[in-house]
Amino acid sequence: MSVPDRPSSDSPEREGELRTLRLMLPLGALVVMVVAAWEHDHGVLAWWDRWLYPLLMLVFGGGGLALWRWPQYQTWIRLLSVVVGNLYLSSVLLLLLFTTDGPVNQYAMMVTMMWLPFGYGLLFVMLRARTAMLLSLIVMVLTFTPIGVALALGLRPNWGQAFATTMPMLVLAQAVYLVLFMAISDLRAGYHRARARLQVAQELALNDALTGIGNRRALQEHVRAGLSAAERGDLPTSIILMDVDLFKAVNDVHGHTTGDRVLEQLAQLLTGQLRGSDRLGRWGGEEFMVVAQATPIHAALELAERIRKAVAAFEFAHGDPVTLSLGVTQTLPGDTADSLVLRADKALYRAKNAGRNRVEAQTVITA
Ligand code: GH3
Ligand code: MG
Ligand code: MG
Repeated sequence: MSVPDRPSSDSPEREGELRTLRLMLPLGALVVMVVAAWEHDHGVLAWWDRWLYPLLMLVFGGGGLALWRWPQYQTWIRLLSVVVGNLYLSSVLLLLLFTTDGPVNQYAMMVTMMWLPFGYGLLFVMLRARTAMLLSLIVMVLTFTPIGVALALGLRPNWGQAFATTMPMLVLAQAVYLVLFMAISDLRAGYHRARARLQVAQELALNDALTGIGNRRALQEHVRAGLSAAERGDLPTSIILMDVDLFKAVNDVHGHTTGDRVLEQLAQLLTGQLRGSDRLGRWGGEEFMVVAQATPIHAALELAERIRKAVAAFEFAHGDPVTLSLGVTQTLPGDTADSLVLRADKALYRAKNAGRNRVEAQTVITA
């Protein structure tokens, strides 16, 4: 089974990412604005940043706004904003190489070096691990190759030795950051895979292997939820417990495999009889249960009768008629899951005793 290292496009996590991005991008634009104002006030605003800061603000702010209008372009907006951010940082480093010394350049070099790992980090946060790795390597090569060549050829910036001694350290630091980010994104991919597997495991844990409908554990959860809803003062929850009549004979006459097939067909048929809020499951063997929330017993009796008739009228693959006996009850004050199911079981027992292929109700608590 292949599982993605990022949430799929329609998952709730992806929705969460969209919300975060809608906040983060305008925040990025705001940060650039604050930086620009600060640098302007302190006389360290480089000439290129007079042009590039507004461009960054446009990309981040515009991207954030565009996400409200066109959320379907989330992937492209992500890509654009991180690529532009990284391109900006790399370009500034290159520009510094060919400009003359001065406090503005010293300042710009320090600040750019400070933000560079952040740019790489963003790649890993915003993009798939592979894309991020590829892009960060491209950024590294694009940035440091010209710088390395220039330094090797002695084309140092005329503002001194600082650049030449700092660059190797910067390359080393970037490489170390890169390894760190790869490790983090590997962890994250593992987390997403584990979540996906957990989801599959949860589904398996609550599904019946033969029929694909809910299993006993799922039904028990529905019963508990129904009891809580009834306790909160909502309408009562009703349960319908049903058992295939003389099913042993089906196995004896047609074989166990045919018996299985009958149970599968039955599960399908029952599913088709339910309303959206009804929960069906296999209670065990040839017994099924419907948990109907906000359903008083008279409505549950109608549903049970409808089920009974539909099953009796259905033509099963093995050619013989199949009937159900059904026991119905609803939540009463003081009920537990056990007392509720026990009442349905008693009703079912009476249906069997009264000749099968019938519905019985139990509405009083008996010892
Ligand atoms: P009653 O009307 O009294 O319920 O009669 P019955 O024959 O249905 O009742 P009994 O409890 O004697 O037999 C139930 C049968 O259901 C026996 C068992 O082999 C069969 N059964 C239970 N689970 C499965 C299953 O998963 N597949 C198949 N093929 N048969 C099953
Ligand atoms: Mg049985
Ligand atoms: Mg039976």
